Amino acid sequence: MSNKILEINDLTVDFDGFKALNQLNFDLDPGELRVIIGPNGAGKTTFLDVITGKVQPTLGSVVFQGQNLRQTPEYKIARLGIGRKFQTPRVYLNLTVRENLDLVANQRKSVFATLWGRPTLEEKRNVANLLETIGLEAKAEMRALFLSHGEKQRLEIGMLVIQSPDLLLVDEPVAGLTDEETENVGNLLMALAESHSIIVIEHDMEFVRQIARKVTVLHQGSVLCEGSMDEVQNDPRVIEVYLGAAPDDHP
Ligand code: ADP
Ligand code: MG
Repeated sequence: MSNKILEINDLTVDFDGFKALNQLNFDLDPGELRVIIGPNGAGKTTFLDVITGKVQPTLGSVVFQGQNLRQTPEYKIARLGIGRKFQTPRVYLNLTVRENLDLVANQRKSVFATLWGRPTLEEKRNVANLLETIGLEAKAEMRALFLSHGEKQRLEIGMLVIQSPDLLLVDEPVAGLTDEETENVGNLLMALAESHSIIVIEHDMEFVRQIARKVTVLHQGSVLCEGSMDEVQNDPRVIEVYLGAAPDDHP
């Protein structure tokens, strides 16, 4: 039995004859923080869509903690422990930061318990710890409406983490953030990587350099190469793909 948290073999997604993913092979160790880069249209978002069950593969397999996810519906995959952070924050703007976290922390309880029960000591401790991890202790009682875009991103990462997924999938977390918030989100992901396996998709190379250990480069639906940031940036194939690519719509 393999000790990989995620193993992907010959994954192919065919959209009416166009292969968004083409015999892609990939694996991830438990506790790894992996960054995936690649030009637009390389298949990065489709790759996450297949792992979360949103898109069914045409061929190949996704094995998560030893379990083949073929035909497993999206909600079941989430329950197995795969959490996904979308690009735009999905937080409740009229609730405070703490209420947003409480709400997700309570999701597994019955409606009755959520409405009438008080949070247990353990739940309170979890939320308090998480507020510290995401750096929003001072803003815990503020409505999410008043948070900056970067703070909302951190809150949403917190809302994901409180569901204790084993694998976190994060799509372009720093798009549109200031340099300072980019660094904050980077530090948060690195702190979370101590207790989670994480895949981050990102365009911002400065950010990739801040957090990356191992980088995977996707191109035309397959893995072009993998290695440290330095190895990848100096790989002639990567240079060609990036220089040869149409101008990126991500500044
Ligand atoms: P990336 O996230 O790396 O920019 P995507 O995974 O979004 O790339 O897309 C990969 C390719 O697949 C693109 O050429 C895109 O146009 C195509 N594609 C994505 N989703 C669909 C779909 N539902 N139907 C047809 N083509 C799609
Ligand atoms: Mg994408």
